[in-house]
Amino acid sequence: MISETVWAWQRPVAWQQAVAAAVRDPALLLERLQLPKHLLPAALAAAQDFPLRVPEAFIARMVPGDIHDPLLRQVLPLGDELLLSQEYTTDPVGDQDAMVVPGLVHKYHGRVLLIMTGACAVHCRYCFRRHFPYGQANPLASHWHDALATIAGDTSIHEVILSGGDPLSLSDERLHQCIQDLTAIPHLTRLRIHTRLPVVIPQRITPALVALLSHSRLRPVVVLHINHPNELDTHLTDALTGFMQHHITLLNQAVLLRGVNDRVDTLVLLSERLFSAGIMPYYLHQLDKVQGAAHFLVTPSRARELYRQLTAQLPGYLLPRLVQEIPGMAAKLPM
Ligand SMILES: *Cc1c(COP(=O)(O)O)cnc(C)c1O
Ligand code: SF4
Repeated sequence: MISETVWAWQRPVAWQQAVAAAVRDPALLLERLQLPKHLLPAALAAAQDFPLRVPEAFIARMVPGDIHDPLLRQVLPLGDELLLSQEYTTDPVGDQDAMVVPGLVHKYHGRVLLIMTGACAVHCRYCFRRHFPYGQANPLASHWHDALATIAGDTSIHEVILSGGDPLSLSDERLHQCIQDLTAIPHLTRLRIHTRLPVVIPQRITPALVALLSHSRLRPVVVLHINHPNELDTHLTDALTGFMQHHITLLNQAVLLRGVNDRVDTLVLLSERLFSAGIMPYYLHQLDKVQGAAHFLVTPSRARELYRQLTAQLPGYLLPRLVQEIPGMAAKLPM
């Protein structure tokens, strides 16, 4: 049984302090980056719907004074988000329909996804779960045992994917408890963690986290979410060696985003820097049509053209799969 209160007496560790100290005030972000004040009213309006949140360690990788900075664009609320379009919905990937127990999503053969928490250290403006009803669909809140029982009752499931929100916003102690419960299910062989937290706060890769993943019977796979080569600074690449030394498989998924990474030279550099940091490119996602993110869309024809050029420039093993998620399909669809 996982209780919210058990660990509450513990002092927050460095990464938790960094999460708590993340910038949430648009005025402060503009000031920190010496950006014009006229951006503020729209930022405040868009932040009402989905608040700004960005850790200092991520801001440090942005170029002051540049309103087109590719990292800034991922986090700065813009007036564009308030333009509604019928095609852009609050649940673009059909999570709600595929939820078998609150928080447990079973869409694809052999693997299930557990939404562990609604919390994230960074709020990405294009996030397809930006409207997700975390309050009602958090297995840890009250449905953990139902989720475990469902997984235990289906021997076709071999892999559990911890997702969110960001599962690494849970403390190491709570993760340890969750992983122990999953390890007790004999037909599980792999544990996958989908996370962006170590990217924005590299201190999250604690020795305790590395130990709990590498000592598990379940084979660990960490799928990071890095969209632009500038996100890979030395703080991050140094921290990742902790995972590499323990042979934890590192993959990356990126989202193709207009004004962030929709250039072939950027995508080539991203793959090369990922590989240098020990991470294999896995997916390049076409944007999910979530309300408020229409301005990030790279049209499918432009996406295919970029991918054609990428294929011509990279060795096959550095080429992520360009995919789109279509609700109801048996897997993510190659484009
Ligand atoms: C993306 C996703 C997965 C994982 O798919 P892979 O192709 O194995 O990476 C699993 N479950 C859900 C609900 C997903 O959206
Ligand atoms: S970290 Fe992931 S889940 Fe959280 S806001 Fe960003 S894309 Fe969404």
